[in-house]
Amino acid sequence: MNVKNCPRCNRIFIPQGGRKICPVCVQEEEKQYEIVREYLRENPGAPVLIVIQETGVDEDTILQFIKEGRLEAGSIQGAELHCESCGTAITKGRFCGKCQDELARDLQRAAGLSQPKAPERETKGRAKDKFFTADFD
Ligand SMILES: [Zn+2]
Ligand SMILES: [Zn+2]
Repeated sequence: MNVKNCPRCNRIFIPQGGRKICPVCVQEEEKQYEIVREYLRENPGAPVLIVIQETGVDEDTILQFIKEGRLEAGSIQGAELHCESCGTAITKGRFCGKCQDELARDLQRAAGLSQPKAPERETKGRAKDKFFTADFD
C-alpha cells in the first residue's frame, strides 16, 4: 500500500481516486472553494489580491480551482494561468491551444512509433497460369 505525504499539511495518507492531497485537506479545499465561489458571486471580477484577503484562501489554491475549471479565470481580476510549455496566459487547463495541438501531435507520433506497420509480405509462389488447350476442329 502506497502512502504519501500531503503536500499541503504534511500528513501521511493513502492516496485515493487520484487525489494528491489528504482527505482532511480535500474537505478543507471544498470549504475554501465554496467561500471563494460565494464571494465571487457577490463580487464578480474582484481583483485576486482582494479575493485572497477577503476569503483567506491562498492564491495557489485559487489558481488550482481555475486550472481545474471550477472557477472562471475571467471572474477574478489578475488571476492568470500560464501555459506550462510556452508561458502564454490561458484561462483554463495547463496548456494554451497551440501547445495542446503540438502535444496531441507528439502523442500521435509516439503512438505511431510504438505500433510499427506490419511488414508487407511478398507474395511468393504465385500460382502459375494454367493453360488449357482447346481443340478447334
Ligand atoms: Zn493534508
Ligand atoms: Zn503554450
